[in-house]
Amino acid sequence: MTANTREKTSTSGKTPVTLLGLGAMGTALARTWLAADHPLTVWNRTPGRAARLVGEGAKPAGSAAEAVAASTLVVVCLLDDASVGEALAEADLAGKDLVNLTTTTPAQARARAEWARERGARYLDGGIMAVPPMIGVPEAGGYVFYSGSTELFEEHGETLAVPAGTRYVGEDAGHAALHDVALLSAMYGMFAGVHHAFALISKEESIDPVTFAPLLAEWLSAMAGGVHLTADQLRSGDYTKGVVSHLAMQVAGTPTFLATAEQQGVSAELLRPYFDLMARRLAEAGGEEDLTGVVDLLLR
Ligand code: NDP
Repeated sequence: MTANTREKTSTSGKTPVTLLGLGAMGTALARTWLAADHPLTVWNRTPGRAARLVGEGAKPAGSAAEAVAASTLVVVCLLDDASVGEALAEADLAGKDLVNLTTTTPAQARARAEWARERGARYLDGGIMAVPPMIGVPEAGGYVFYSGSTELFEEHGETLAVPAGTRYVGEDAGHAALHDVALLSAMYGMFAGVHHAFALISKEESIDPVTFAPLLAEWLSAMAGGVHLTADQLRSGDYTKGVVSHLAMQVAGTPTFLATAEQQGVSAELLRPYFDLMARRLAEAGGEEDLTGVVDLLLR
């Protein structure tokens, strides 16, 4: 009988979980496992933060090592990769299933996977695509990217699905972090455009930002579908495939955007770097392509 099988015979019949890190995210995760009757052992560097969860049924551990010893499935949700190394320095990870939900770079995730393997643990890395209020609320649409040990994911998939949806993106432990950062990077690009748009209208007394917002949201939603065409062009290598608004036309339009910013008293510092890349691609590859060639310019 494996340690896991033994654990599944706990009174609730649910897999015991150890959780290290009771910040905003860790606390939200913890509550969902408690609500689903999973025996939960918790540890936090600052012990006071565990008190409320202990009142709700969690078992406190005196140290991270003690917490790790309590369950086969050990979930870590700390500030950054360095805090994970610090917290687990004294823990015996042999035979453990370590799930690291701390945000890291892909390289840090791969190194942490190797570090865990050397200590005898199976390793799964996670990238959380949700904020704490979305945890335990399936209709909020939050989920976690996972990558690393397939066996670990398959064995504990049900337990990991308690706080949020799960999306396994492969054995490379760095790929959850890469998916996470790629999606968030796209989000920041979108925010940049949104902030520029609000700046453009902000001095116009007769345009209410609250009335403008739904127009903006609808437009961004309509444009978001364009990612599929970009993907198709990248896969085929033909950036003229299915092009609707070719590069020459789009570059010709950029002075209008810059002049409008100038007239509205708005800095174009968020727009200009992208327009510069469009102009460079036009000069290098001609005007018949879509905007997709900008991807190639970014590759170093
Ligand atoms: P918090 O700042 O609320 O909590 C940070 C946690 O890390 C605390 O438990 C803190 O302990 C602990 N910690 C920090 N440094 C150390 C250390 N050196 N050794 C041990 N423990 C340490 O952050 P969140 O809970 O919000 O975030 C946790 C992770 O989840 C991060 O990687 C974050 O990027 C990720 N995440 C968060 C989201 C969010 O919206 N909050 C969204 C998606 C991902 P102490 O209480 O002692 O300070």
